[in-house]
Amino acid sequence: MSNFAEFTFRGQPGYNEAAVRKIITSVIPVRTIVMYCFDPRAAGAAQAVADYFGDEIYPGELLLDEAGRKIGSTATVFPLIVGGGRAAEALRSIAVSQHLFGIERVVVVHHSFCGATSFTAEGITAAWKQEQHTDISSLYDWDGIAITDFEKSLNYDVSLIRNSPGTPKHVEIYGLFYDIDSGELTEIVRDVPAEVA
Ligand SMILES: [Zn+2]
Repeated sequence: MSNFAEFTFRGQPGYNEAAVRKIITSVIPVRTIVMYCFDPRAAGAAQAVADYFGDEIYPGELLLDEAGRKIGSTATVFPLIVGGGRAAEALRSIAVSQHLFGIERVVVVHHSFCGATSFTAEGITAAWKQEQHTDISSLYDWDGIAITDFEKSLNYDVSLIRNSPGTPKHVEIYGLFYDIDSGELTEIVRDVPAEVA
């Protein structure tokens, strides 16, 4: 085995994929994924979302075993910090979160005066051509690169998540606008599936 294998679940004696998954699900109570921008001014978004819903725990406390090793936490919210809070970069993490924790809620947060509102898809693509001599026009969703209108960007990202095969059908998806100065969240999109009988 390679170096550091002792730090993997797979490297533990008697490792069994399904059994380990069950243990992880039982000690990690996460049920909500919140994506927001890497802008430090937006850093309060996860706490704001936890307060907004009222039934969430964030950041929670770490759970330790007898040896003092970190084996879990009480947080029900996991933050997903990506440029602009755009959903394109979050899809894989949503699929993984469902697999390991079982999620119920996905929240997209776009914030006031985000850098992503300062440029356009056309502008960044043209600049890349000129400065990096590279064509990035087919690399990303044209409507997922910049933010020109918060209602449009939040609706777009909520649909992107809803239509991803890696999103469990039962999750509620929210698109919230975050005012970085007042700390206030405004709900722009709510996509809650009808109760499955
Ligand atoms: Zn931003």
